[in-house]
This record gives sequence, structure tokens and C-alpha cells, in this order.
Amino acid sequence: MNPTTHPDFESIVLSEADIQAHIETLATKLNEDYANKTPLLLAVLKGVYPFLSDLTKKLNFYCDVEFIAASSYHGGTATTDWVEIYLWPRMSLKGKDVLIIEDIIDSGLTLKKIKQKVQSEGASSVKLVTLLDKPSGRKTKLEADYVGTTVKPLFLVGYGLDFQEKYRNVPFVGVLKKEIINMNAKDYPWRNN
Ligand code: 5GP
Ligand code: MG
Repeated sequence: MNPTTHPDFESIVLSEADIQAHIETLATKLNEDYANKTPLLLAVLKGVYPFLSDLTKKLNFYCDVEFIAASSYHGGTATTDWVEIYLWPRMSLKGKDVLIIEDIIDSGLTLKKIKQKVQSEGASSVKLVTLLDKPSGRKTKLEADYVGTTVKPLFLVGYGLDFQEKYRNVPFVGVLKKEIINMNAKDYPWRNN
């Protein structure tokens, strides 16, 4: 794929260079704050994978990495404001300094539930790190401790963020053309064979 453009995108919101600059700033702060700690990074699948990979390469403290996964249906047609956590680390979180790593915070409902569960398992500290923050979408009181950048209330795709599970591998963050979003599923460009 062309690294700077893609035929399905209407616009680019964050270029690869923009993303890396935000990650650099986040890593600098984390390296100061966690210099003498060994935190557990809890990464929220799946959208977080490019961010986690790029961020962790810039961290110079010891850390563990574990994955969690949750489904939220509050944006869709099913149950509202309902979050199910279906993957959780086997290791105990008791006494750990936990850094929850997310790609984007919108309503905040997913992270709120995850944060409560981490606290209930006896973590010493819990902080939230997100590459992107959409504060206008909040449905609950939740603030991230480390934010790469705030974004407008748009449906963003790329760099981990999907539409129909596609585009996670696109290296920038942007907005898809309306014709893709509104397309009949049988006509999606990946249904070509
Ligand atoms: P929240 O519980 O904060 O509403 O949802 C967080 C999750 O919703 C994110 O981790 C992400 O998976 C998804 N999400 C929120 N905003 C966007 C967006 O603009 N684009 C995409 N593709 N997913 C989003
Ligand atoms: Mg996510």
C-alpha cells in the first residue's frame, strides 16, 4: 500500500510523522515518570497493536506487557452501555503499577470498566495512556493520564483503528470516503475475488 495515500480515504488526519511525534512526546513523559518503576502495560486489543509496538520501543524502563480484550456495543444497535471483558491476564495485578494502553478513547465506557477491574484486583496505581482522545464523545467521567493528541468527533480509521476489521494496517489515521462507509457489504473493495 502507498504509505501516504489510500484510494479508500477521503482525508488524512494524522500522518505517520505526526503519529511518531506524538509517541515520542508520550514516551519522554513516561520515561520520566516510570524511571524507577517496573510497570505492567495492559494493552487493549485489537486496535492498540501498532501504537503499543511503536511506543514500547521508545520506553527505557523495565516493563511487563499483557493483553486484554473487551467488546462494547454502545455505539451499535445491540445492548447499550454494556461492556464485556473477554480476555484478561492470568498474572495477579496485586501491587503492580499498571499502565492501560489504548488506541482511542471515545465514550470512555470500555476503559472505565477495565480501570475498575484493575483497581479491584489490588493494583498499586493505575494510569491510562491513549494515543487519541475524543473528549466530546464521553458518556462517563474518565480522563486519560497520558494523551497523544485530542481529535474531533469523526470516525477515524487506520493505524490500528478498523472499519469492518479492515484498514488496521494503514500507517496513517484518516477518514474514509462516504461511499466506502455507505457501501453495500457485498461491494466492499476486499470482496473482489
Ligand atoms: P469507548 O468505550 O471509549 O467508546 O470506545 C473505545 C473503543 O471504541 C476504542 O478502543 C475503539 O476500538 C473504538 N473507537 C472509538 N472511536 C473510534 C473511531 O473513531 N474509529 C474506530 N475505528 N474505532 C473507534
Ligand atoms: Mg481500542
